Amino acid sequence: MTLRTSADYRAGLRDERRVFYQGKRVDNVASFGEFDCAITHSGLAFDIAAELPELAVVDDGDGPYTAFYRVPRTGEDIANRGKLIEAVSRMGAGTIVLKEVGSDALFGLLRALTGEGLENAREFYRYCCENDVALAVAQTDVKGDRSLAPHQQADPDLYLRIVGEDADSITVRGAKVHTSFSANADEIIVLPTRAMGPADADWAVSFAVPVDTEGLSLYVSPYLHGEPDPFEHPVSSKHKLLESLTVFDDVRVPKSRVFLNRQPELAGPLALAFVDYHRFTAVNYKLPILDLLVGAALEMADANGIGRTGHVKTKLTELITYAETVRGFAELAALRSVSGGNDVQLPDPLAVNMAKYHFAHGFHAATATLIDLAGGLIVTGPGGADWADPGTRAVLEKYFAAAAPAEQRLRLINLIGDITTGQWGGYQSVLATHAEGSLEAEKMMIARAFDDTRARAMVTQVLSEARF
Ligand SMILES: Cc1cc2nc3c(=O)[nH]c(=O)nc-3n(C[C@H](O)[C@H](O)[C@H](O)COP(=O)(O)OP(=O)(O)OC[C@H]3O[C@@H](n4cnc5c(N)ncnc54)[C@H](O)[C@@H]3O)c2cc1C
Repeated sequence: MTLRTSADYRAGLRDERRVFYQGKRVDNVASFGEFDCAITHSGLAFDIAAELPELAVVDDGDGPYTAFYRVPRTGEDIANRGKLIEAVSRMGAGTIVLKEVGSDALFGLLRALTGEGLENAREFYRYCCENDVALAVAQTDVKGDRSLAPHQQADPDLYLRIVGEDADSITVRGAKVHTSFSANADEIIVLPTRAMGPADADWAVSFAVPVDTEGLSLYVSPYLHGEPDPFEHPVSSKHKLLESLTVFDDVRVPKSRVFLNRQPELAGPLALAFVDYHRFTAVNYKLPILDLLVGAALEMADANGIGRTGHVKTKLTELITYAETVRGFAELAALRSVSGGNDVQLPDPLAVNMAKYHFAHGFHAATATLIDLAGGLIVTGPGGADWADPGTRAVLEKYFAAAAPAEQRLRLINLIGDITTGQWGGYQSVLATHAEGSLEAEKMMIARAFDDTRARAMVTQVLSEARF
């Protein structure tokens, strides 16, 4: 077993990977300035082993390895995983870090698969633990016309598919999108994105490949990049991710790394097995964001001198109720965790989806409350260069003081701007709506996971008691 440091992790990214950024090939992602912030941020997934070893490191007898990759076998394991994900997100100011999603995929593979695919997944899992591997997960296909199945698309490559096979390998073609961490991970796990029928067999594929595999190209989004001033953007100047369009141009995958090979009946179960873990990850890494929203609202109200006003107290109470309800559902998901296939424990699907739905449904209203309390300076206030100039700063200190000194107030306003109207706020707003499953996907899972026996029995009981 190996535990790598964040420096080891960064050094491991120096290879021949084909990464494109703003129309140009990036020679070396490890030393590319625009990616530095994201790689440092993702390095927190390694730093936490030294900072919180009791939570982030396990040793089952073969030497220490990262607790992100500990397969949950009990409810307590699920609860501890929730704490770990929350802790690393707290280090990252509420931004997901790196190893969470990859481990969700590993657990999904270990839970849903059978036969040779399961054996390959187990072997790959051991490799990841032994080498402290950084994983990205490419599940979402580009999908073309959303109303059509993979085999019905005008261009068959709009869902990733198998285009060739020999005794030792399969060859795949197509593209995945929104792939977080792909440019700064060691390996990419590919999962199917939906349930499939027999006609979609070529598209029912899952495997893992190193990021520098021949034929794999990553086109990284420029969103959230640049070098924002830390005074103006206290969160986004330090924490961000890399996302890519991930193109497989006839990529050869050794069969030992193939988990699903033309088995459409397993595509849906595998996609869902991942999602059960992934939404649990989502709600736990979002808890520090909720603390940030509540804390910033409380502090801002005090700094503006409105903390005791009736309407403000109501808004703060609603915000607290929203945040603590998400936390309650996240804890419930661990408390009610259930035994899944292949002896892998899973968080309660009903509670997980309610937590994620409640978070996403209330997020935009919550950020609106912060904008309300902070006032218009979020978009008209001074910048870092103004604050750094002694002459301008004296003016700002005089005129922006309120119930708190100007510096404290301006820093709070900038924090609120960053997490609501700024790029990080915009990113989180889209993330809340789409990532880790859409609101519709969560509603579907809530309806599916809800056991209606008790509710129907209550109606039967009341109606039978009412008979005479
Ligand atoms: C920041 C971020 C990070 C992400 N990271 C990852 C990652 O690491 N790996 C990964 O695999 N994915 C990742 N995702 C992808 C995420 O899971 C998807 O965004 C999500 O599944 C929605 O897919 P889409 O973006 O293609 O939107 P679409 O599917 O196009 O959805 C747009 C709208 O169309 C509706 N719609 C879609 N299909 C249908 C249909 N058949 N019938 C009716 N309505 C439909 C949706 O409900 C929605 O309202 C990430 C997304 C974001 C925003």
